[in-house]
Formats: sequence, C-alpha cells, structure tokens
Amino acid sequence: MLDYGDITGETTDAIVNAANERLAGGAGVDGAIHRAGGPTIMAQCRKIGGCPTGEAVITTGGKLKAKYVIHTVGPIYRDGTKGEAKLLQSAYKKSLELAREKGLQSISFPAISTGIYGYPLDEAAHLALNTCIEFVRGNTDIKLIRHILFSSKIYDIYSTQLKMLV
Ligand code: ADP
Repeated sequence: MLDYGDITGETTDAIVNAANERLAGGAGVDGAIHRAGGPTIMAQCRKIGGCPTGEAVITTGGKLKAKYVIHTVGPIYRDGTKGEAKLLQSAYKKSLELAREKGLQSISFPAISTGIYGYPLDEAAHLALNTCIEFVRGNTDIKLIRHILFSSKIYDIYSTQLKMLV
C-alpha cells in the first residue's frame, strides 16, 4: 500500500534504505535513517563493508521502531540504456528476498533512486510497484509492503501507476 510521509516512523518489521555502494550514509533518506536509528546501524554497515548496486544487506534497526534496516543500492540514472531498469528491479527484489529469508512479514520502501540518483519518477514508480506485485504473487510469507512517499508529487505518481497495474 501507499502512504505519504517519513519512512523513519514506520512500524513494519523492516524499512528499506536507499543506500550507496560504500554504505557510507549520506543525504536524503539514507541520512534520515541513520540520524533516527542511531550509530549501531552505521557500525554494522562498516562491518559489512559495502553493497553492489542492485543488491541488498540487512542490519539492526537500532533506535527505530522497525527491527531491521535493509540497505539496498539503486542505480544512478544516466540515460536509461545502462541497465538501470534491471538494477532498480533487482534492488526491490533482493530486499524482498532478504526480508523473506529473515522471516519478516512487513516491509516499507522509499522511492529508491528517485532522489539524488535521478531516476525518472513514472518509470521508477512502475518498476517498484510491478516488482513488488510480482513478488507477492509468488510467495505468501510477506503480508504487507508499504511504499512511503516523501512528497505529494511522488505519491500521486505512484497512485497513477498503481491504478494502471491492478
Ligand atoms: P537515491 O540516492 O536512491 O536517489 P534519495 O535519498 O536521494 O536516494 O531519494 C530517494 C527518495 O527518498 C526520494 O524520492 C526522496 O524524496 C525520498 N526521501 C527522502 N527522505 C525521506 C524520508 N525521510 N522518508 C521517505 N522518503 C524519503
């Protein structure tokens, strides 16, 4: 389901972070999650060391209400011919697979790659929703997938794309 707001307040089992390959923290949703979750998240990120684009890793949720943070790395959008779509789909899918492996039932996603990484919003929303819908069709373990959209503009784009998909 879609919601509007700040992902750091989510009470799902896990929230997903739009991280970078070095897991170094940064601006945007990444910075917000580390600020709200406290230093244990970064300590675990340092131990893990990094995460290639399209992959996902998991840490504690620290002080967050969510028990876990799944850090995934979406692609930097260049011109759409550099495998961006596959990498963005993979970021969602690997995050969901990790949640399933951990036995989690609920997960919240931000709009990965749509900030600093510059992915066009319509296509990013379509890929995010389509990948999640396909995933839950093949598996009943995860009961709730929330997409937390940080602006009314992105929320409206997700709503439009969702109507086209279901
Ligand atoms: P990326 O580098 O993957 O583009 P960003 O953090 O720059 O990541 O942006 C990803 C999306 O997360 C953007 O749509 C941005 O508006 C949104 N965002 C930023 N802060 C938050 C937050 N606290 N909660 C949810 N979404 C957020």
